[in-house]
Amino acid sequence: MNTIQTIQCPNAECHGTIQFDPYLLIQGKSFSCSTCNSVISLNQESKEVVKDTLEKFDELKAQTKS
Ligand SMILES: [Zn+2]
Repeated sequence: MNTIQTIQCPNAECHGTIQFDPYLLIQGKSFSCSTCNSVISLNQESKEVVKDTLEKFDELKAQTKS
């Protein structure tokens, strides 16, 4: 199952994108931009937000499957 997501690099001067696996992200793994090496990772607060999003994502997938 491919869960890789892509987001715009947080570095405003960089027009790259960062690919990340949200499941690894919520486990504390960080991901870096291949263009400028900016790193994205989660703090404790945003962890909850991502978890909520993933739960909704999972629900959606479950509905699509049936
Ligand atoms: Zn970048």
